This record gives sequence, structure tokens and C-alpha cells, in this order.
Amino acid sequence: MNESNERITVLTIAGFDPSGGAGIIVDVNTINSFGCRPVAAITSLTFQNSEGVYGATFEGAESLRAQILPIIQEQSLAAIKIGMLPTAEMIFEVAHLIEERNLPAPVLDPVLRSSSGYALIEADAIEVLQSELFPLARLLTPNIPEAEALTGLKINDENDMRAAAAQLCEKGARAVLIKGGHLALELEAVDVLDDGGEVSVFRGAWIDAPPLRGTGCMLSSAIAACLGKELELEESVRRSKDFVTAAIRDAAKME
Ligand code: PLP
Repeated sequence: MNESNERITVLTIAGFDPSGGAGIIVDVNTINSFGCRPVAAITSLTFQNSEGVYGATFEGAESLRAQILPIIQEQSLAAIKIGMLPTAEMIFEVAHLIEERNLPAPVLDPVLRSSSGYALIEADAIEVLQSELFPLARLLTPNIPEAEALTGLKINDENDMRAAAAQLCEKGARAVLIKGGHLALELEAVDVLDDGGEVSVFRGAWIDAPPLRGTGCMLSSAIAACLGKELELEESVRRSKDFVTAAIRDAAKME
């Protein structure tokens, strides 16, 4: 395990939320918290605050390539986290870069909508995300609404989460972590990890806090940082979930 003083580099490919509630600012803070060096490529400039998303401009494939190439020419990446990736063109480009440059298999947060309901990916790009990037990812981290949208299943309990994760693995994902925070099952936050058929269930206290934005961004960045340090997937998920739980607890205390 690489937990030495050497500062590994973790790349986030995600949207920029100027208000800092989600996206790249959260990713960079999280990657720093895990003692890694953050580098970032912006897929979208969004316009939002704690109330909602008011709009977004999208980068193109050329911009994404132009952002990433100079970084990887200079330093090797230990891990990659992918968040908001709104167009088919950019998805193809990221898949191409990963294969062409032999980059680490990313942690892919399949961001579809903001909590307030704003579409953060074009409708025709969702299929491309599944066909091009799911098979290249080390892990997918959908929340319940995302897992429902991607599988067509209605998810009400832990068994449904297991079924959805298994279906996504059958469709070509190497591993899937379904985040159960939206269910609040008997005041437990239950997450289900399916690593190619090997299932682990993580149970944490469900904290009665006002919805904290950016927890999905935080979790996927934390997992990427841990994988970059060569921790096993299950241990990476455990440490990252603890990190997010602590952040939610801190936010609840502030209220
Ligand atoms: N904005 C950006 C740039 C994001 O990457 C995400 C989620 O990943 C969101 C907004 C959605 O965050 P929330 O669900 O907290 O609204």
C-alpha cells in the first residue's frame, strides 16, 4: 500500500460549480483531505447556488483533451474520478484518452441530475456513458435515482439495491456501489457494493441533517484517492463512507 509521504496525483474530470456546493471544488478539497495532489479538467461551467441550478455551458472534446494532455505529459496519475460528463462527444473523448494513454480505471459517478432536478447530462449521452465508459471504470457510484434510471428497476430496499447492482455488473460494469442515502432504511444509510459478484453491505447511521450537496462528489473523489494509494476497493469504500458521514455530521452540527 502506498501510504508513504509521496504525494500521488488524482485527476477529477467534472463540472465546475462556482458556489462550491458540488463538482470540482468539492473534489479538490476531498482529494487534498486524503493527502493527494488534485488536478482537474472542467467539463462544464454551471451556474448554481444552494437553491438550484440555473444553467450550464458545456466544454467540447477538444477542450477536454487540451486540458488533460499537458497534465499527463508531466505527471503520472494514480487515480481518476469522473463526475458530470454531459455530452456524448466528451464521453467518447475521455474513453479514448483512457485507452490511448493507458490511464487508471476511473471511479465513475454517473451524474444525471442535480438534487433540484436539473439535467446534468444530455438525454442521448446516457446510453453512450453506459456503452463507452461503464466497462472502463473500476467502480460506478450511482445513488438510488441514478441506479433506477440506469436499470429501469424501482429500488425500495436492500434486495432491490443488490439486484440493481448485479444488473449493472451484467451490463459490463466491473464494480458498482449503490448509495442508499435516499432510502433512509430504518434510519440506516445502507450502501451496497457489488465487485463483480462479490457483494459487501455497508451500514451507517442515517443522520437527520438538512440535505448536504456534493456528497456524491465527495464520496467518489475519496474512493479514487484511496484506490490511488493502492488500498483495496472495499477498504477504500469504507474509509470514504466514514469521511462523508463525518462531513454530514459536521454539517448537521452547524444547523
Ligand atoms: N453540479 C455539479 C457540477 C455536479 O457535479 C453535481 C453532482 O455531481 C451537481 C451539481 C449535483 O449536486 P447535487 O445533487 O448536490 O445538486
